[in-house]
Amino acid sequence: MTNYEVRPEQVAMMDAVQTAIATSDVCLIEAGTGVGKTLAYLVPSVISGRQTVVATGTKALMDQIYGKDVPFLNNVLAESFTAVLLKGRSNYLCLTRLKEARVKISSLNDEDRAILTRVRKWALRTDNGDIAELADLPEGTPMLRTLTSSVEDCGGRMCPDFADCFVYKARARALKADLVITNHHLLIADMALSEDPGGPILPAEANLIIDEAHGLEDVATELLGRTLTSHQVSELGKEVAELAKLERTFHGFELKNAASGIVKGFAGFLAALAPTDTRRKLESNNPKAKALWHELDIDLEAIELRTLEIAKELDRAPDVSTKTAQARALLAEVMVGFDTNLIRLVERKGRFGAVSALPVTVSEILEEKLFLTGRPVILTSATLTVDGSTEFLRSRLGVPEGAPELVLASPFNFQKQAIIYAPKELPAPDSALYFEHFINETMSLLTATHGRAFVLFTSRAAMLRATQAARSELTLPILCQGEAPRHELLRQFKATKGACLFGTASFWEGVDVVGDALSLVIIDRLPFDPPDDPILQARVELLTEAGRNSFKEYNIPLAVIKLRQGFGRLIRSRTDRGIVAILDSRIRTRSYGNIFLRSLPPAPVLDDLEEVKDWAKQNLKKRRRR
Ligand code: SF4
Repeated sequence: MTNYEVRPEQVAMMDAVQTAIATSDVCLIEAGTGVGKTLAYLVPSVISGRQTVVATGTKALMDQIYGKDVPFLNNVLAESFTAVLLKGRSNYLCLTRLKEARVKISSLNDEDRAILTRVRKWALRTDNGDIAELADLPEGTPMLRTLTSSVEDCGGRMCPDFADCFVYKARARALKADLVITNHHLLIADMALSEDPGGPILPAEANLIIDEAHGLEDVATELLGRTLTSHQVSELGKEVAELAKLERTFHGFELKNAASGIVKGFAGFLAALAPTDTRRKLESNNPKAKALWHELDIDLEAIELRTLEIAKELDRAPDVSTKTAQARALLAEVMVGFDTNLIRLVERKGRFGAVSALPVTVSEILEEKLFLTGRPVILTSATLTVDGSTEFLRSRLGVPEGAPELVLASPFNFQKQAIIYAPKELPAPDSALYFEHFINETMSLLTATHGRAFVLFTSRAAMLRATQAARSELTLPILCQGEAPRHELLRQFKATKGACLFGTASFWEGVDVVGDALSLVIIDRLPFDPPDDPILQARVELLTEAGRNSFKEYNIPLAVIKLRQGFGRLIRSRTDRGIVAILDSRIRTRSYGNIFLRSLPPAPVLDDLEEVKDWAKQNLKKRRRR
């Protein structure tokens, strides 16, 4: 292998993966930035002679493995292997939905008609039906969403288009491939939806590598719970209205009324539960919402029963009836709260909203269905530990007791490559004086590094306020999350000299900017989840009821992992240098601050801004001369 640099950490990881595969163990491996973890798990997996599934948390990592690591390994390994990139069904064109849309083309507006014409032409030449190939159509285009399938409306093997179906062709390729690269969503969906209409999604016996494993609990919580959105209700209303057209009797009239009734009814019900934009625990003792739910349920019941009869008469799958029954069951769950292990929550943003019932914990189901299946499972990430221990993630994810672990530090020289600026004297973040001090510090830091910075916020309001202040005081190019799609902002950031990117949650992880373009990461506050977040509240309550210290055992470890992810954006290669500024004095003044500092890479910690500016002058300037 030319240009291969032996890294002892990478070799240690390969050995650990090989052992886990040989013994069918569950194993945790934290591999700091620069270890080369993807090759360290791919090599022993593909030469093991067993099938392997790699599930990642981000699309960027899926693309890197499939587009870069797989072709590289197929070049250098003695025996070549087959690899398939497998996404969720909403990423593939559904041929049945396409046919249905063609029938209705005359009722579409000009924009949707143009999109449909475009998709029809593309459908004739695409090999795999992945709608990402239609790159110039914005992600989430509503018309595109109507051309994909869901588990409920897919006929599976009974579908007349099954033989040519892109979803099932991709899955058939995956079941035979040596290596399947997928995401956490599909992994959990495969685990949870044992009744997918087309059979299993992923090879059940394969080695399983879960990369970016620190994010698995969030995905499992979402997918193992149930949610009903206003969009789903409006889609259901449209499907019911279509069926109503087939009814020439009085039932058709009734069904049509019920279809529009559920859309209006759900909107009114949501408004009663959440009069303003929110995301909070649902209060079921709300008499107005209760009355509206009962009215809504009458319409839903009529739809459920009548559409079941129609499906029988027409010899069709009862998908509309099934979806309606599921909606009724979820509404009853959120209003009555039959299952005390579920968090019931309501979300509202403008005209849109949702109600959900999500599991408080997912550890038991993950342990049973993912980890105790007798196959090798390797959980890996750059951030599995808190203060050197994997205990937090082990307990959150239900990793079986005694599962071996390996913690591999980054091979980068953080003592020389980075500094942490954590000033003690800043007002606390909840003080009225905080913002002014934060902005002053941020302006000084951005000036010292000539921009080239990520400024990461824990709230959108703070990000917008700081963006406005920075734009009025600095001549540096300031990019702000929300002003363009995420990938476009990143492209502009890399292409623009001295750019500063102000962002929230989605820029804390999965972003890779190597080199001079990123020399400073500013963090406004320690990334504790907001105390009114309903999921956090339910988990805190559960721990408190069990007599445990929820702040120490849940809030702090969760925030430490997020901070480590934010820090990880800075140093991506042996030649990168830079500053991480944590402008939250609690990291220096509170006793728990040391847990955060000890969990970060071992860079010197400074609290004098002048020293930081000197460091920037010496270190960042040197880099520009090279
Ligand atoms: S099998 Fe399902 S996804 Fe495939 S074409 Fe038919 S309905 Fe669409």
